[in-house]
Amino acid sequence: MLASHFHLNTSKEAPADAEVISHQLMMRSGMIRKHAGGIYTYMPLALKVLRKIENIIRTEMNNSGAIEVLMPVVQPAELWMQTGRWDAYGAELLRIKDRHGRDFVLQPTSEEVVTDIVANEVQSWRQLPLNLYHIQTKFRDERRPRFGLMRGREFTMKDAYSFDRDEAGALKSYDNMFNAYKRIFTALGLKFRAVNADTGSIGGSRSHEFQVIADTGEDLIVYNPDSEYAANIELAEAPCLIAERAAPTQAIERVPTPGSNKCELVATQLGLPLERTVKSVVYSVSDEEGKKSIYLLLVRGDHEVNEIKVGKLAGFEHGFELASEAEILEHFGSQPGYLGPVQPLKPITIIADTTVANMSDFVCGGNKEDTHWIGVNWGRDLAEPIVADIRNVVAGDPAVGEPGTLAIEHGIEVGHVFFLGDKYSEKLKATYLNEQGKPEIIQMGCYGIGVSRIMAAAIEQNNDEKGIIWPMPMTPFEVVICPIGWGKSEEVRQQATAIYEHLKAQGIDVILDDRDARPGVMFSEWELIGVPIRVTVGERGLKDGIIEVQARRDAESVKLSPSEVNTYVL
Ligand code: ATP
Ligand code: MG
Ligand code: MG
Ligand code: MG
Repeated sequence: MLASHFHLNTSKEAPADAEVISHQLMMRSGMIRKHAGGIYTYMPLALKVLRKIENIIRTEMNNSGAIEVLMPVVQPAELWMQTGRWDAYGAELLRIKDRHGRDFVLQPTSEEVVTDIVANEVQSWRQLPLNLYHIQTKFRDERRPRFGLMRGREFTMKDAYSFDRDEAGALKSYDNMFNAYKRIFTALGLKFRAVNADTGSIGGSRSHEFQVIADTGEDLIVYNPDSEYAANIELAEAPCLIAERAAPTQAIERVPTPGSNKCELVATQLGLPLERTVKSVVYSVSDEEGKKSIYLLLVRGDHEVNEIKVGKLAGFEHGFELASEAEILEHFGSQPGYLGPVQPLKPITIIADTTVANMSDFVCGGNKEDTHWIGVNWGRDLAEPIVADIRNVVAGDPAVGEPGTLAIEHGIEVGHVFFLGDKYSEKLKATYLNEQGKPEIIQMGCYGIGVSRIMAAAIEQNNDEKGIIWPMPMTPFEVVICPIGWGKSEEVRQQATAIYEHLKAQGIDVILDDRDARPGVMFSEWELIGVPIRVTVGERGLKDGIIEVQARRDAESVKLSPSEVNTYVL
């Protein structure tokens, strides 16, 4: 690629709404252009990175036996109604109507459509197992789209779905994907950690997230360097809070909660004026006799009033979705932690009430969408007290190991794998005939990767004061050749072109900057863009047969002969 044939547009300043470094650097390097909150064009540099990430993912997915398809972005509402997610998904689901008034959704994820496909395509046990994936545009009407591609509304996801004959098969598929994910994030050149995770609005029972380790990450991960234990703090936070209130012998269990925006719904149901409730988590606590009570943790803040309330609910006042008893039973009846039968909502008793000042007595991760709502970086500033409390709570769990060694770090969720069981296949009648000719329900898993988020996460992990430092596997260009005096020196032009042609012939993704810019301007532009290797060809060096090669990560450059340059780069 010749720079004069490419489109570059860098700038010194980032827009004021770019809070995190990846967003700033992507804007400054001209990778993305914003059209509306969370809606961007991938400009040529970004698209190159995106395609490289996609291809690494695609290769590993194909190697692991998954098969690529491409499902539609616009999906009929009927399927979403059949699974109950038309109602349960909440405001993040963008609903649209066609000219006939029929309802559609812009897919935030594709369990419904893929399960419908399999319900129609698969008849016999001989067709299983099957794993279908696509790399497709997603739309989630995030409450607070921000951080550029990190939390977009329109974004690119790879989502895969496994279909198996039985649970054992589905768990094997899960492990297969788990291992593929490890290979993918390793191949992408990222520092990451796989952690136990919440299943959120996707549902299911077994789940892991893949977290790219970065100080600016919105998630908190608690892990033990000496054991396998690693979990998203979302899982560990509220039990600690409740544990403070509960007698030591009481068992604490998280009650599955549906979909997004549950906080608002809970607040509304409880009649609490929580304009900015940011988190609600529901836990059940059983006493020695096995009697369960429900605790509800609500966190609220609106810049002036910030508080945590722990509510104890009488009976099972589910209430989040204003769902009917039948709906709730259908949703949660078979899930661990479900306490049914459903009672009409009773008033909440506030048993703890606190303000930000002593919030560290409590353990709470906050909702990621609202990390900055109190002007306090929620997870970050509270991290240490949280770890201390978590140590107490997880002590005694053999999986955790020595709790004293627990550590905490920030992460960016780039991948998420779920075991789903029959959550979708049952409702959408995805069955197969077993060897005896008897119909059985297919067991499923689903596996997402935030393709466009990876781009931002990689920058969060790899940057310095000059700009981005791309990991080689996803860099927009592997090498940039910067000729000094392109317009003046025939020798410089010849040598730069020769190196360019040679590297190109070797399959190196190289760009030759033939725009005849001043060296300082040219260098800082490519440092901002983050190309990992710069080759500088100037008349002065050429006199001594020398070409300067600067690795973006290194402080010092190396001086090489033209032939050494080729081997250095290869
Ligand atoms: P988050 O907790 O960050 O909101 P999620 O748990 O809602 O993410 P999943 O439903 O697990 O997301 O989707 C799979 C992957 O898609 C995530 O692991 C993440 O990498 C990516 N992703 C989710 N939401 C967004 C978004 N708004 N912008 C970019 N990528 C996203
Ligand atoms: Mg989300
Ligand atoms: Mg998540
Ligand atoms: Mg997730």
